[in-house]
Amino acid sequence: MDLYGSLKKIFGFNQFKGLQEDVVNSILSNQNTFVIMPTGGGKSLCYQLPALMKEGTAIVVSPLIALMKNQVDAIRGISENPGIAHVLNSSLNKTEVNQVKTDIQNGVTKLLYVAPESLIKEEYVEFLRQQKISFVAIDEAHCISEWGHDFRPEYRNLRNIIKQIDNVPIIGLTATATEKVQEDILKTLGMSDANVFKASFNRANLFYEVRPKTKEVEKDIIRFVKQRPGKSGVIYCLSRKKVEEIAQVLQVNGINAVPYHAGFDAKTRARHQDMFLMEECDVVVATIAFGMGIDKPDVRFVIHHDIPKSLESYYQETGRAGRDGGEGHCLTFYSYKDIEKLEKFMANKPVAEQEVGHALLQEVVGYAETSMNRRKYLLHYFGEEFDDVNGPGADMDDNMRNPKKKHEAQDEVVKILSVIKKTNE
Ligand code: ADP
Ligand code: MG
Repeated sequence: MDLYGSLKKIFGFNQFKGLQEDVVNSILSNQNTFVIMPTGGGKSLCYQLPALMKEGTAIVVSPLIALMKNQVDAIRGISENPGIAHVLNSSLNKTEVNQVKTDIQNGVTKLLYVAPESLIKEEYVEFLRQQKISFVAIDEAHCISEWGHDFRPEYRNLRNIIKQIDNVPIIGLTATATEKVQEDILKTLGMSDANVFKASFNRANLFYEVRPKTKEVEKDIIRFVKQRPGKSGVIYCLSRKKVEEIAQVLQVNGINAVPYHAGFDAKTRARHQDMFLMEECDVVVATIAFGMGIDKPDVRFVIHHDIPKSLESYYQETGRAGRDGGEGHCLTFYSYKDIEKLEKFMANKPVAEQEVGHALLQEVVGYAETSMNRRKYLLHYFGEEFDDVNGPGADMDDNMRNPKKKHEAQDEVVKILSVIKKTNE
């Protein structure tokens, strides 16, 4: 069957999204392939479709067990044979592992999802060496890089393990757009020859706003939320304590909010997350523990009570607004004191890590204090040119809607220059 036939028959789609078709062709022609697309861009299909079309089993490395399970269930839903996709992880018992192995040996399994810590297991490597493997896809490939927002040391070993299994094409996929992380991924996976596909990271429907953080911040947040009755939103805070405080303040003020952080037991977390997804509450007040893999399309605002530690995190977190293409207001409260706080947190980390952290923070300061087009600033950080006159969403930020007066802007330049000077000293 041809490509479009398979797309329609397997996934029910008439069209590829963005660069998907080129990516699929690259994988089908057995080339190392690197895919950089924002969250929601449709990366899964890029490896799932070729995996289903090719001979052998594709290995998919992913860090999140819950997400792997979702994907496996989805793939099983489109096939008569449940063996078509499997997860291999430490929670399987002996019988289950044997079933997975039998399905792979019989050529039934097209997609095998594994967590990196399972793939490293001698027993699995030994088994997989003897099977027909079509390719290895590494999802969330930024986990390989210390410059990414979610570094996982066990990712660094992947190249070695893959080499032991077979000489097959490697597919890296990430929503991380920074050049540093991209270089790191290509280098660490030994795939500098890869075909690189990078989609635009512009989210034209998001409105970016940064406000000074004052003592009135809680009142500001309440007012903002109350102006949007019944709308879904996420409020990010740095600490668990702050999450609980803000959630309570909102509740007292008649806003239907729930708290979410890793300090709650799994049951409570799941319940609060479900309440949000099922629209039984409007607002989740959360630490960054909330969001990975949450795909609620109609989140209308994301508020940062505390500024994130990198622009990368800022982009990912604000990116949870307006997935459906509708309104998405991203409001951040900024005070330089919070930057100093974040610097302090790093004080007892290894020096190299501190340097990375400091450099990332300076970019956040630059973004928060700039009077230029925020979208242009953000996309520039991701190595992307943006036309701030005619580009999609060019006027969608506070600086463009209410340009600062000249002297204010000049004051800012002086401030930024002094920050840059400090950084260089
Ligand atoms: P990513 O991993 O890049 O964040 P996903 O693979 O989870 O994105 O896909 C995001 C959404 O896009 C999913 O709901 C998926 O069904 C949808 N999607 C993917 N490809 C297409 C397509 N060609 N046409 C329509 N919808 C698509
Ligand atoms: Mg994905």
